[in-house]
Formats: sequence, structure tokens, C-alpha cells
Amino acid sequence: MSEPKSRVNVNGIITPPEKAKISVFDRGFLYGDSVYEVTQTYDGVPFLLEEHLDRLWFSAEQLDMHISIERWALKKQIALTLKELDVPSAYIRIIVSRGEGNLGLDPNLGGRHNLVIITKDLPPYPKTLYSHGVHVIIAETLRNSAGSLDPNIKSGNYLNNVMAYSEAKKRGAYDSVMLNREGKVTECTTSNIWMVKDGLLRTPPLSSGLLSGITRRHLISLCKQHQVNFNETEINPEELMQADEIFITSTTRKLLPITRLNENSVGTGRPGAMTKQLIQLYEIHVTEQHKKDQQDWKKILETL
Ligand code: PMP
Repeated sequence: MSEPKSRVNVNGIITPPEKAKISVFDRGFLYGDSVYEVTQTYDGVPFLLEEHLDRLWFSAEQLDMHISIERWALKKQIALTLKELDVPSAYIRIIVSRGEGNLGLDPNLGGRHNLVIITKDLPPYPKTLYSHGVHVIIAETLRNSAGSLDPNIKSGNYLNNVMAYSEAKKRGAYDSVMLNREGKVTECTTSNIWMVKDGLLRTPPLSSGLLSGITRRHLISLCKQHQVNFNETEINPEELMQADEIFITSTTRKLLPITRLNENSVGTGRPGAMTKQLIQLYEIHVTEQHKKDQQDWKKILETL
């Protein structure tokens, strides 16, 4: 399979991916000392960019990392990169590392941050993933606790999640659910998790130790608007095993049904009725949100 078309911006220089290079002394490379965000475009317009940038700055602040580029200038760099890429549906990854300098953990060695924007063509996810649902396992690897590296910080330090993902691959699964130290469900390696039991929709609270996903946030407010029977409460793995329906959420996948957990089918083994309804509700929301995003993006494009 050929690689998707891609353009990468490294500190303002836009190149094809094979030309994009960064120093071996970059602290993101050495220590995972970086923060990042992922979103995508619809019709060339980044989805919910403001919220992703809010979270990027939030993550950096939590790590005492100073992002010296102004927000408008970053948006302009994203726009310039997307212009070069020139595809309607693009994946966008924005990475800010604490820069490069002498070896050593001292954050002050970093100097000025490095800014990398990776964009690539994003073909739609295979329809069968959504019509059949996917298989996840409950991993042995635990999610970081908030006292070590707060999962609510979207940092480049994803080794826990890499290990949990690798467990899933070894067992032939799509992904892993990660538990916290108290044995409660947190999230999957790059998505938030939801379950339905007897008509009640549940997702773990942020206090279980998970990323405050932007899709999660939007789906919660949709549930409130549409009086969906919903609550945020701690979930035990045993409860997850008994769920009628499970799905995950993330920006690029939206809502993706889970129809197999460990060695068992979830509910009927097919995507459930509530999951399908929420997928439709979220699709409508994406279309409406896209119109708002278009208005904001027009202003950025005018500055190019
Ligand atoms: N949890 C983790 C650990 C993630 O990496 C992601 C992907 N960013 C999510 C949840 C989903 O977040 P969002 O809906 O903002 O994409």
C-alpha cells in the first residue's frame, strides 16, 4: 500500500515527510518532553481547532512548558501546511517539544521549543469497523496515575499506552482498555470509553484518570441536550464485561462500537441500538460544528 500524501512543517519549513528532520537532542525524542494534539479537517477546515489549541496550551502549562509561538501564528502555520497538502480530509498532528540542548533532565536546557505539524491525507476508516465493531481487551498495563504523569496532560510520553496497545496486538485485538491503580476502567490507549447497561449510558469520570477527550466532552453535552439517560461514574471491569453495548470516542474515529471484550461478545455481538443512535446524533453535530469552524477558518485564510 502506498503511503498517504503528507506534508510536514518543522519550525515553519514545510517539506514532504522524508525531508522533515529534527535534532537527536530534541527533548521530545530524548524524554518524551513534548505535548501534542490531533485533529482532522472536513473540506479542508480543521475540526474544533480552538478546543484542540486550548488543550495544547493547557498540557504545556501543566508541564511548565512555554509555547512561545502566538496562537494566531500557529493557526497560520497549520493553514500554510494544509495548503501545501491540498486534500479535503487531512489528519493534523501538532507537536510542541521543549526544544533541544545539552543532555540532562533540567527543563531549562531546552531553550526554544520545536514546533512540528504533521499533516497527511486521511481516508475514511473502513466501514466494516463501524458495522461490525471492534475487539478490545483489558490490558495488564495500567494507565498512569494522576500523581505520576496526569493522563489529562496530552504529552508525548505515551509509553504506558504503547505497552497496553502492544498487549492488544499480541492477543489479536484492535486496542486495550486500561485500568487505574484501583482497578477501575479509565479509557483505551487513544480514545475514551463508554458503556450501556439497561438503557443507561455511562463513561468513567475524569477522576478515574483519563484524558478529557474533546469528542467525550461534546458527546456529554449532546446527551444533556437530548435528555439521554447518562451518568459519569466509576466503572469496574466486571460491569464492563456485563455491558449491553460499548463504544469508544476520539476525534478521528468519532464513535466506534466495541463488540468483543476479551474473549466474550458484548451484548448481541453487534453494534447496539443506543450506540447507533448516538453515532447519528454525533454526525449531525459534526456537520453543524463544521459550519461554525468554516466561519473561523475563513478569517485565518484571509491572513495568508
Ligand atoms: N484518550 C487518549 C489517551 C487519547 O490519546 C485520545 C486521542 N487524543 C483520546 C482519549 C480521545 O480524545 P479526543 O476525543 O480529544 O480525540
